[in-house]
Amino acid sequence: MTSQRTRDRLINILRTNNIKNEDVLSVMASMPRHLFVDEALSSRAYENISLPIGHGQTISQPYMVARMTELLLEGGNVKRVLEVGTGSGYQTAILSKLVFSVFSVERIKPLLDSAKDKFRQLKLNNVLTRHSDGGWGWPEKAFYDAIIVTAAPEKLPISLLEQLVDGGKLIIPMGKKGEQELLVFQRVGDKFHKKILEKVSFVPLLNGRAQ
Ligand code: SAH
Repeated sequence: MTSQRTRDRLINILRTNNIKNEDVLSVMASMPRHLFVDEALSSRAYENISLPIGHGQTISQPYMVARMTELLLEGGNVKRVLEVGTGSGYQTAILSKLVFSVFSVERIKPLLDSAKDKFRQLKLNNVLTRHSDGGWGWPEKAFYDAIIVTAAPEKLPISLLEQLVDGGKLIIPMGKKGEQELLVFQRVGDKFHKKILEKVSFVPLLNGRAQ
């Protein structure tokens, strides 16, 4: 159930769903998603669905990971990436194979600890993590070529925009449950160009740290 054939089937589904970036597809074909979910769910790890990871959170749907990663890489020259919402660490792991360094912030300590174990196991040495409320970004490590948020706020966290390089992109789901949209903001000097992409469904971005 976790064989290469099963993984290739997922890649075909992603292609059917219009994912075109071959680098993204090839990294997703080789990444063991089953390691990022509970063993009891590993037989479903290569289905195009989100799955529970405990603490009321979910590992993102593979299509969503592919789409957001593709958007992030569009235009090229993306080296430093901030991710808000490490969760299982799956999206982080995909990014780590495609950019120079990934800074990832998670508010739930046990999820972050488990994700860090996976990064060690897979020898992903270009991932740096922090246990904190990522709504404020990670200003000490700014600036970032791209910021990806994997939980949805109702209002735009302005601090994130401030941590982008000129030309940098923020990829973020936004809105109330049932009415969220995926947005991309691109910084051009002190202005931000907004693009609305598609309807999405993410867990909410919450305030503060949790143990
Ligand atoms: N990319 C992850 C998605 C996990 S779900 C994966 O594929 O596994 C979203 C994650 O965002 C959850 O783990 C949740 O705890 C985290 N989160 C929510 N609000 C946050 C905040 N303000 N700061 C940091 N992480 C947050």
